[in-house]
Amino acid sequence: MDYIKKVCPACGSEFIVLKNREGKAVYCTLHCLSKSQADSGRNIVSPLMPA
Ligand SMILES: [Zn+2]
Repeated sequence: MDYIKKVCPACGSEFIVLKNREGKAVYCTLHCLSKSQADSGRNIVSPLMPA
């Protein structure tokens, strides 16, 4: 099977994925995936904001 090397946009490390999974594999780990999703949700108004 063919593997390709990709760079994780969350932590910057290189990782190897199966070529036929390239489109789905963006992050090196689920941790990086959830981290990036948390970052993109930062626009939610903080409940600690003074009224
Ligand atoms: Zn990563």
